[in-house]
Order: sequence, then C-alpha cells, then structure tokens
Amino acid sequence: MGKSLQNGESEARRALLASIIESSHDAIMSGDLNGNFTSWNPAAEQIYGFSAQEMIGQNVLRLVPPEKEQQLNEVRKKIFDGNRIEHFESIRLRKDGSKFPISLTVSPIRDSNGTVIGTSTIARDLTDRDKAEQKFRDILDSSPDAMILVDKDGNIALVNSQTEKIFGYSRDEMLGQPVELLVPKRFQPNLYDYRDNFLASPQVQPMGEGLELFGRRNDGLEIPVEVRLSPIDTADGVVVVATIHDVTEHRQLVRRLEELNELRNEFVAVVTHDLRSPMTSISGYANLLIDAWDTTSDDKKIEYLQIIARNTEHLAQFVEDALQVARIEMGEYAFEIVEFDIRSLVQRALDEARGVNVNRRFEFTALGDIPLVLGDADRHWQVLTNLLANAVKFSPANEPITVELSCDDEFVQVSITDQGIGIANDDLAKLFQKFGRVSQSTDEKVPGNGLGLYICKNLVEAQGGRIWCESSPGRGSTFVFTIPIAR
Ligand code: ADP
Repeated sequence: MGKSLQNGESEARRALLASIIESSHDAIMSGDLNGNFTSWNPAAEQIYGFSAQEMIGQNVLRLVPPEKEQQLNEVRKKIFDGNRIEHFESIRLRKDGSKFPISLTVSPIRDSNGTVIGTSTIARDLTDRDKAEQKFRDILDSSPDAMILVDKDGNIALVNSQTEKIFGYSRDEMLGQPVELLVPKRFQPNLYDYRDNFLASPQVQPMGEGLELFGRRNDGLEIPVEVRLSPIDTADGVVVVATIHDVTEHRQLVRRLEELNELRNEFVAVVTHDLRSPMTSISGYANLLIDAWDTTSDDKKIEYLQIIARNTEHLAQFVEDALQVARIEMGEYAFEIVEFDIRSLVQRALDEARGVNVNRRFEFTALGDIPLVLGDADRHWQVLTNLLANAVKFSPANEPITVELSCDDEFVQVSITDQGIGIANDDLAKLFQKFGRVSQSTDEKVPGNGLGLYICKNLVEAQGGRIWCESSPGRGSTFVFTIPIAR
C-alpha cells in the first residue's frame, strides 16, 4: 500500500515535471556523456527551429558555432566534475544557420549511485533582451547630451557616443575609470562631497545649481557644462546617471549678450552727452534765427549758420563712428586686402591736410626704400587721416607735423609726430579705449567723441599690424602704426 502510494506520488511528480517541461518557454534538453541529445522540448523546437525528431540522437555541436566550441568543452568538463553552471551567455545556431544570443544553465544528471551520466540544459533565447538593450543604447546614443552611468564606487559603467564626442576619450578609455577622469582637478574635492550628499538623498537634480561647472577633455581643455543627476535603484545599489550638456555655445552667447548690453548702456550714456549737446546748439541757433531773423545782422546770421553746420558735421561724424564701432564689435567688418603703395597714400593724405590747414607745415620723410604693403588701403587712409586730424587738433597751428615711413623685414612703420600738448603717461593706456578722451582734451572747444583711436586700433590690428603712442606732456606725441609688407 505504502509502496503503491509512493509509486503514485512519483508518477504524479513525473507527470507534473513532464508538463512543466512541455509548457516551458525555455528550451529544456538533456544529453548523454557524448553530448548527444536524449530529450528536446517544444520550446527548444521553437527556439532552435529543429524538431525533437530531428535532434534526439544528434550531437550538441550541431548548435554551436565554431568560435564557441572551446567554451562548450570547458563547460562540459565542469559538468562532468559534478558542477552546475548557471546563466552563462553564449551564441548558438538556429536550424537556418543564423546565430543568436542565449543564456544557458547546465546541470549534471546522475544515476542512483551519484555518477554523472549526462547533462540537462535550460536555455533562454536572449534575442529580445539584446534587441531591447540595443534599442536602449540607440536611444542613449541619439541623445544630444553626454550620458554617463556611474556605479556605486564612482566608476564609469556606461557611456553613450556623445560622451566620446564631448570629452574626446574613446568608450574603452572611459569604462571602469573613476568619474574624476572627466572633472577638472580643482572641482574634484567638491565632487566627493557632492556625491556623498547626493547618495544620502538621491533624487533627480541639477548639479551645482547657480555654479559654472566645467568638464575636462582628454586634451586637458575645460568645457563649460550643465549636469543633471538621476539616481537609479538597481540590485547592486544606487547608480547615478549623469546627463552632461555642453553649454560652450550657450555661455558664449550669454557673454556676448552681456557685452552687447554693456555696449548699449555705454552707447546710451555717450549718446545722451555727445549727441544732445550739438543737437541742443543746433536747435537753439535755428530757433534764434527763426525768432529774430529780421533783427539779426547778416554777420550774426552767418555765424549762427556756421555753428549749426559744424554741429551737424559732428553729429554725422559721431553717427558714422558709432556705426563703424558697432560693426567692428559685431565682427561684421569686411576688409579688402590688397597690395598697395603706402608712400603715395601718405603723400595724398598730407596733400589733403595741407589743403585744409593752409598755414600748417607738414613734413614727410621715408627712411630707405619702402616696399608695398598688404592691407585695405581705404581703412589705412582712415587711420592716417584720423591721426593727422588729432595731431592738428592737439598742437598749435605754428608747429609742424611730421610723417615718417620706415621698415624692417616684416612691417612698414608709419609715425605721425606733433609738437602739441602731449599725453600724460597715466593716460596712454586708456587712449585706445572706446570713448577714451583724456584729461588734456576734455576742453569743450576741441571737438571729438573718443572713438577715433579705438577704431584705428581695431582697424590696424585686424590687418595684422600694431598701433601705439609715445608722448611727453607739453612737448608732443608720436603715434605709430605698422602694416605687414607684401611678399
Ligand atoms: P577724439 O579725438 O574724437 O576725442 P580719439 O580716439 O581720436 O578721439 O582720441 C582720444 C583722445 O586721445 C583725444 O580726446 C585726446 O585726448 C587724445 N589724443 C589723441 N591724439 C592726440 C595727440 N596727437 N596729442 C594729444 N592728445 C591726443
């Protein structure tokens, strides 16, 4: 009775086992010591594409691509030694010859004496998992931001392709490395604190809000970045995904906007002063003429009209200069660089200056042969006439103005010397700055807007030259600029 009950029990268990094997989604197969299959369930038929009939008695090698044979032999050896091997991943062949990823758990089958007489294998097709993983990787790779998975030890466990682009390291150079690899040294102490705090209360958050963060590329260059951290709870503890957005362009834009804003404020301040005073005088004298036309002498009328004309010219000049400054600062200034003869340009400028300032002596010397230069002749004309006009403005009419040309191997040097009021040493530095009018000239009678030298400096430097001033107060000034020689 007891025995038949036992028999009944074991039969029931066998039936249960058989139905589990039949209905399993995993392939379940058994094999003998030679690796020939002794059983093959429906899932195995599904996965491999071979029917039980086709496979029973066939050798396992039929399913193993050549590159995995060695692995198979190692596994079989371990099984025969009585071990069980769980969830190792490999590649197998389907009936149509295609390869697919698989996870295998292999155990020894023993007889009643405990001797290993065969193997049983449970196999799971990993194609879908790998596809899902690939999809996940594709999603990561399509992100415009660098994404880095940092494990609980602070090492880089996964990166997307944008990380390679932004930081210049290859994937292999980053994987397994401490995340500090990508952080400038000076931020590293903060990083440890930050990580501890973050792990203490992990939640999605921007890193270092309000701070300017930087990443370090493999060439040592620092790039401005914004970082968002998201914790992911895994079986191995909390890991962190850092999403890193390269904000180089954004920060440049912000800086540019700040500069433009500053420029605008400056402009408004100067406009208020420099435009308002000539306009006040224009409208003042115009109204005077309208109101008192009949009672004003012809001489006075001429004088008032001259004042109006002069102020109008200043206004026009200022608008012209301000527009040129704006174009230079927006980087929109186009130069037409050609070879030209600076000697004849200087002579023309001097002829013009003599025509306007008939009582003034203008002298010209050229030290040696002056070669052709390379630049935009119109822009050099502008520099030259501006420096000559300053020399005239800031020196007495009876003192001569001298232009001298000289050259070295690379540059022609143009010097304009006056014997005027000169410039104090302290003022030399701000001379070439925007609106840089210096103390001696703030006299309202000397017209000017302080933009001329700033424009000259920008024009000269943009064409590969330099400009500077040597001066002693009370004795005069020499302004010098250089132009590259044409080769
Ligand atoms: P502006 O002449 O319109 O004021 P500039 O930029 O040409 O503007 O010159 C800036 C300032 O530099 C002048 O206001 C003046 O103070 C000083 N400066 C320029 N050239 C000379 C010079 N030859 N001698 C003395 N001071 C000069």
